[in-house]
Amino acid sequence: MIRTKEDYVKSLQSLGLVVYCKGQRVADVTAHPGFLPHINAAAKTYELALAPEHEHLLTATSHLTGRKISRFTHIHQGVDDLIRKVQMLRLIAHETGSCFQRCVGFDGLNAAYMTTFDIDEKCGTTYHQRFRDYLRFIQEENLMVVGGMTDPKGDRSKSPSQQHDPDLFTRVVEKRSDGIVLSGAKAHQTGAVNSHEILVMPTQALREGDEAYAVTCAVPLNTKGVLLIFGRQTNEERKTDSRLDAGNPEFGMVGGEALVVFDQVFVPWERVFMCGEIDFTGTLVERFATLHRQNYGGCKGGVSDVLIGACALASEYQGTNKASHIRDKLAEMMHLAETVYCGSVACSAMGYRTPSGAFYPDPVLANCTKLNVSRNIYQIAQIAHDVAGGIIATLPFESDLRSPEIGKYVEKYMAGVENVPTETRIRILRLIENMTGGTALVESMHGAGSPQAQKVMYQRLGNLPMKIKWAKKLAGIRD
Ligand code: SF4
Repeated sequence: MIRTKEDYVKSLQSLGLVVYCKGQRVADVTAHPGFLPHINAAAKTYELALAPEHEHLLTATSHLTGRKISRFTHIHQGVDDLIRKVQMLRLIAHETGSCFQRCVGFDGLNAAYMTTFDIDEKCGTTYHQRFRDYLRFIQEENLMVVGGMTDPKGDRSKSPSQQHDPDLFTRVVEKRSDGIVLSGAKAHQTGAVNSHEILVMPTQALREGDEAYAVTCAVPLNTKGVLLIFGRQTNEERKTDSRLDAGNPEFGMVGGEALVVFDQVFVPWERVFMCGEIDFTGTLVERFATLHRQNYGGCKGGVSDVLIGACALASEYQGTNKASHIRDKLAEMMHLAETVYCGSVACSAMGYRTPSGAFYPDPVLANCTKLNVSRNIYQIAQIAHDVAGGIIATLPFESDLRSPEIGKYVEKYMAGVENVPTETRIRILRLIENMTGGTALVESMHGAGSPQAQKVMYQRLGNLPMKIKWAKKLAGIRD
């Protein structure tokens, strides 16, 4: 069982995943500088769980065994669990300033738990018991699971079975007496290169003819035929070139994402939790999306807190902290961050019990939270750029600062107020630069579903007919 962050790192060394980065096979993921920040961020979820002051947020009591487990492997047993999840995410974001990746699998476990129960109720299958056995294993071993939902999708105007290449959506290519064989891929898989398992789920609601794509199953990432290709990120060279220029060298800007390929991967039946039940694919996808959208005011609210602190420091180091417009801008940033946090708490507080017994956040409010994140985080970043100044785009390299020939000029001309070392000022400016650029922003936009997916959810669940009815009644309009 993994307890400490050291156990976690050791467990990754012995996994022997097939991982590629920049065209090269990576022999040991824990020794690769491009992966270290992401491993460190995920390791925080293990480390903080052992801190007595955070135990109430980072751990929970398993409803299966009654034992203490990581909250990241827990099935929500009440509204209190839903709220603690959000508090936990904000706390870890304060410690890392980045994505700690483990929530995707957490949400996949909860969505699959509820949905396997529903499938069994209607179809008389035994997926739920199988899933409970699998969950017990994950809880006992304290493993990190990737929530494998997003398929590459190819031509978006076509259904999975209409694609020119049938593998553009992950599918079952063979059913055997002992299990199934998978082919396809999952894209943008957060934390995949430093996880143990992937929980494969369908990527969208499916119709008749697409039964082969209605598959939920758990696959150890070191299974034969599974291959991971790490995704390129903004400023990634800085992970190797310069700790100072990386801004947040220990934890990075976002979680490391990878393309996970399934090349004829065998999965035994005891790890299969949906196989062909197209009627439940929409429910599973919606539940997973809701559970992940619930998170965003927690983790992005927490990351924004760090950024606000960085902006306050930058203004102090540059002598602008007393200006009323700076104080106003910092207050505006706080308002935007607290707004998204409010959304996460609200959808949790309005959560309810599903037939499986697991609790589920209010889907409309979770949806609202994520849509606000896709806007507010850009606004927060915009204000951060305004407060920090153009210097974040033009600072010299760390190697210039360290240069025996020209370092003195960087020291002299990059200085801010007296008594604050130039390097201190550069450190905070680099943190702001890295937290507000490229990949970090895109993740806020598209993680947990793109903004248009949230609009679609409003169209489905926003209850427009009722709103029309209320308006008609007050306006005195009769049908
Ligand atoms: Fe967790 Fe946030 Fe990262 Fe999603 S983006 S995995 S919710 S930390």
